[in-house]
Amino acid sequence: MGSNHLHKSRQRAKAGHAKIASMVPLASLLKLEKENDKLETPAIQYGQAFQAKKGEDFILVKLDCQRIPGDGSSTFAAFGVLDGHNGASAAIYAKENLLQDVLSAISPTLCRDEWLAALPRALVAGFVKTDKDFQQKGQTSGTTATFVVIDRWTVTVASVGDSRCILDPQGCDISTLTVDHRFDDNEEERDRVTRSGGEVGRLSIAGGAEIGPLRCWPGGLCLSRSIGDVDVGEYIVPIPHVKQIKLSKAGGRLIMASDGVWDALSCEKAASCCRGLSAEVAARQVVKESLRVRGLRDDTTCLVVDLLPPDNYFPLSLPPPKKQGKVKSWLFGWRSKESTAIVANKLGDMGIVEELFEEGSAMLADRLGSDATTSLFNCAICQIHITLSEGISVHAGSFFSMTNRTLEGPFLCTSCKAKKDAMEGKQPLRGY
Ligand SMILES: [Zn+2]
Repeated sequence: MGSNHLHKSRQRAKAGHAKIASMVPLASLLKLEKENDKLETPAIQYGQAFQAKKGEDFILVKLDCQRIPGDGSSTFAAFGVLDGHNGASAAIYAKENLLQDVLSAISPTLCRDEWLAALPRALVAGFVKTDKDFQQKGQTSGTTATFVVIDRWTVTVASVGDSRCILDPQGCDISTLTVDHRFDDNEEERDRVTRSGGEVGRLSIAGGAEIGPLRCWPGGLCLSRSIGDVDVGEYIVPIPHVKQIKLSKAGGRLIMASDGVWDALSCEKAASCCRGLSAEVAARQVVKESLRVRGLRDDTTCLVVDLLPPDNYFPLSLPPPKKQGKVKSWLFGWRSKESTAIVANKLGDMGIVEELFEEGSAMLADRLGSDATTSLFNCAICQIHITLSEGISVHAGSFFSMTNRTLEGPFLCTSCKAKKDAMEGKQPLRGY
């Protein structure tokens, strides 16, 4: 849907150029093209704020990444919030390696639309690689990871853990772009972990009373997905929930934060308490409001990213919806009834947030799938070279293994296949 849309707008742009070509000089044409390009690119402003209690929260900001190294027109931005536990080393490792591990899973020769289509799969491969590489260091910490890639108006969010990311689109209701991988909030994840051999329950104290959040035993982690955590069961997987959307040119605000914020504020409250402020002031306001409500009980970190409309388009600060409804899992469309006729006319079909992709399965075979752009000669996760006879299909051992899908790619090396089996509870776990 997204690529069609893009394609159509490009065709329209081309048709426009052809018509004008006979009448205007080249310089004007180039200027027009530059203007069109500007319309395709939001201005990005961001702000970050944190109050540390344990010093295990980290923020990743990288504005000038390039899809094609050396090609300035292929620039995209990456942002992340990493909330570590049992030490900071997993969060630091993920901050330093996650982006590169994701990029190593995508061919740099793809065009923008192909690259964006391949990105959800690459995010899965990258998260698993970062987790696997960190675990091999033998350090016992773990981390949440909420990782956002912004390429023009397309926003792709991948996350494990509970560092939520919400979208406050201009004029529409707020939506959450992540899923909380917390046992307390996620029955599907409780079932998955129990099926894979973990035990989910609360901490028992003397006298048999149970206290605190639901945790997984052994280990006692209250997250069902994370990066690192070598000392808990492998069914605590690093496979991210991924959601990809395309914002309208009216722009929107992303608010990413660690649970220090979300334990204190609802999504609506976090968005409304900073609406109308610049990204920098907004991040500080969200942290301040969290501390006011709950005090400093945990690391409290917030990253606000604004995608601003291009010049001459439309101001970001539209009137907010009259009443804040409850968070919807998704919302299509512009609430034109609540906007003025001028707004509706000016935005036309621009006031729509398109949902391009969403997948949260914890099964690698579902997530890596068959993909024509994946190399047959590299492991789909760690990217090491493998021969056809060494590679094991990601579908091997699955429900479909009796069919010939076991001969289909993508393929894994022996070590990544062992990781996949352990994540699915199919082989003895480390240390237990
Ligand atoms: Zn591998």
